[in-house]
Amino acid sequence: MQLIDTHCHIHFSDYGLDPLEVIADAHSEGVSDLICVGCTITDSKLGIAFAKRKDHIWAAVGLHPHEAARYINDEKSLQELRDYAGKPKVVAIGEVGLDYYYEHSPKEAQKELLRFQLSLAQEHGLPVIFHVREAFDDFWSIYDDFKVPGVIHSFSAGVKEVNEIVQRGLYVGLNGIMTFTKNQDQLDAARAIPLSKIVLETDAPYLTPTPYRGTICQPKHVATTAEFLSNLRHESLEDFARATTQNAQALFNLR
Ligand SMILES: [Zn+2]
Repeated sequence: MQLIDTHCHIHFSDYGLDPLEVIADAHSEGVSDLICVGCTITDSKLGIAFAKRKDHIWAAVGLHPHEAARYINDEKSLQELRDYAGKPKVVAIGEVGLDYYYEHSPKEAQKELLRFQLSLAQEHGLPVIFHVREAFDDFWSIYDDFKVPGVIHSFSAGVKEVNEIVQRGLYVGLNGIMTFTKNQDQLDAARAIPLSKIVLETDAPYLTPTPYRGTICQPKHVATTAEFLSNLRHESLEDFARATTQNAQALFNLR
């Protein structure tokens, strides 16, 4: 069985485990590829360096909506990000989006930074990894001006949002949240996504799936989430793994 972790942060300097050991463990559990996703300039740069060290490790470069206030007027950093987008092994812009739940940055700054990064994705022909929390209305009004391919990562909304995502041809990124949520709407939504539009992720070190809650999340845990979701959706684990792996390879052009 082959799986892909399309979203992790094991390259962050404060990741609590040895990332090379974690990668070896992931490979032995059938996780063939993983994408190290950036939230700041520093960890986007680290992600590229990290991906260079090993085959089948990829990088996404981007500025998280939480960081919008810090970067939106920082021309030097924005230019750096533009340079990073063209580096080898960079397979996506991300993670970028809108977060009105925490609202760590003003909404206007978040929207402006999102527009900038969507234009970068267009320039470089890269797909985008989106973080959208309690902000779908504003998100769609910006996204629809660009219509780039991508994934709504760490999906935890409802069936209405699944429909909005799928009708635009975007993918839905599912992670350990699904294994511990008590929210029936989220589970109904996870059942409603066409198999051709699901990609798997861990968001390591966050969102460790049941039964490993309380430990640091690792890319190998994507197998636990795959098993849970295939049961939830009444699909065989083999079919579910094959489809989600092919979806990730197609979206991110992995080879
Ligand atoms: Zn993340």
